[in-house]
Amino acid sequence: MSNNFSVARRLMVDQQLRLRGISDPLVIAAMLSVPRHLFVEEAFQSRAYSDAPLPIGSKQTISQPFMVAFMTAALELQGTEKVLEIGTGSGYQAAVLATIVDQVFTVERIPELARRARRILDLVGAACVNLQVSDGTFGWEEQRPFDAIMVTAGSPETPRHLLDQLKIGGRLVIPVGDQIDQVLKRYRRTDNATFTEETLLGCRFVPLIGRYGWPESDYS
Ligand code: SAH
Repeated sequence: MSNNFSVARRLMVDQQLRLRGISDPLVIAAMLSVPRHLFVEEAFQSRAYSDAPLPIGSKQTISQPFMVAFMTAALELQGTEKVLEIGTGSGYQAAVLATIVDQVFTVERIPELARRARRILDLVGAACVNLQVSDGTFGWEEQRPFDAIMVTAGSPETPRHLLDQLKIGGRLVIPVGDQIDQVLKRYRRTDNATFTEETLLGCRFVPLIGRYGWPESDYS
C-alpha cells in the first residue's frame, strides 16, 4: 500500500511538477518525501496524488500539488531560512517547508484544523513545526523577522503586517484578488521601506478571513 503511494508520488513529481517547470532540487526532494496521502481526508486517500486540490473539512482545501511546489519554489529557499506560513489547513505545506528548512512557523484560524494538522505533523516527523491558532493577517509578531512568508489563502489586499515582518531581502508570496480568482504575488523587501512586487500566475484559493483579509461576518 505505502509502496503504491510512493509510486503515485513519484508520478506526481514527474508529470505534474517537472513537466511544468519545477526544477528546484530542494522542492523536488521535499515533494518526493512528504506523504501527502496522510494529510487528506481518509475518503480521498486514493486521490491524494491527483492534480487537484481536495477537501480537508471545515470547508477548506489542501492545495493542488503543483501550487504547493510552485509557491515553495517562489520563496527561493536555500535551507537556512526562518519561514512563516499563514493558513496551516492540513499541515501539508508546512511539512514540505519543514523538509527544506529547520524553522517553520504556521498559523491557522480554525482550531479543529490546527489540532488535526498538529497530529499529522507529529506523525510524519515534522514535530519541529511551530503552530499557532490565531488571525494570521497579523503575522506572528513575536517571531519576526522572517526570511520568507507564504499565505495559502486568498486576500483582498496584502496585509501590511506581513510585509513588515520580512527581513531585508525577504520574500512574501500571497494570492491577492476577489473571492473567486486571484493572482499570486511575490514581494521582496529591498530595504526598510522598499518592496518590489511581481505577479507570478493566476490562482484560486479559499478566502483569507481576518482583520486584514475578508470580514469574518461574511462566513459565520
Ligand atoms: N496550506 C494548507 C491549505 C490552506 S487552505 C495545506 O497545506 O493544507 C487555507 C487555510 O487558511 C484554511 O485552513 C483556512 O482556515 C486558513 N485561514 C483563512 N484565513 C486565515 C487567517 N486569517 N489566519 C490563519 N489561517 C487562515
